[in-house]
Amino acid sequence: MRWDITEKALHSEFLRTVEQRSGENVSSCYQCGKCSGGCPVVADIELTPNRIIRMVQLGLEGNVLRSETVWCCAACGTCNGRCPIGIDIVHIMDVLREMALERRVVPPPGAAEVLMFYRSFLDCVKEFGRLNEIALMGSYNINSWHLFCNVMKAPWFIFKSKITIAPHKIKQIDRLKRAFERIEELERKK
Ligand code: SF4
Ligand code: SF4
Repeated sequence: MRWDITEKALHSEFLRTVEQRSGENVSSCYQCGKCSGGCPVVADIELTPNRIIRMVQLGLEGNVLRSETVWCCAACGTCNGRCPIGIDIVHIMDVLREMALERRVVPPPGAAEVLMFYRSFLDCVKEFGRLNEIALMGSYNINSWHLFCNVMKAPWFIFKSKITIAPHKIKQIDRLKRAFERIEELERKK
């Protein structure tokens, strides 16, 4: 892929917004590539983390927000630990995900399932106040139409007491639900 670098591209609104929202100096990345060298998902994504950072520098908003890297980043933090100038790439990826959702950018097919997983995870936490693996698996499998995904592994985990069938709700779950509602209201106002 070839990009024409113009003065305007280097001072884009997109770069300014990402820097403001993340509090990170994205412009200071000098493309050493150490972040991508340690990234565990790099073999499965088209655009490596350092390329994403470079594309943010160049103001390529559409390409960045439509990329699966933004969604497939596992937030493991390896890149943060390896960056010689301490750029918080995990936080930048969070900001990019938020921006993709706010701008209603349709994620690519593989990434759409990751988004579905996040939503199932949050629904589970909202409902029980904590994660219940069976509820999470049921919600994700139904929503994604992968109806039998990992189903055969469940009995072994239950037998080993790694997961429980009956979900336990935390005390004062109403307070947590109210917090979720407030966040949803704030998001609607954005
Ligand atoms: S936080 Fe994301 S981009 Fe960074 S190394 Fe982990 S998976 Fe890769
Ligand atoms: S490790 Fe840091 S400086 Fe190097 S390419 Fe990645 S973000 Fe840029």
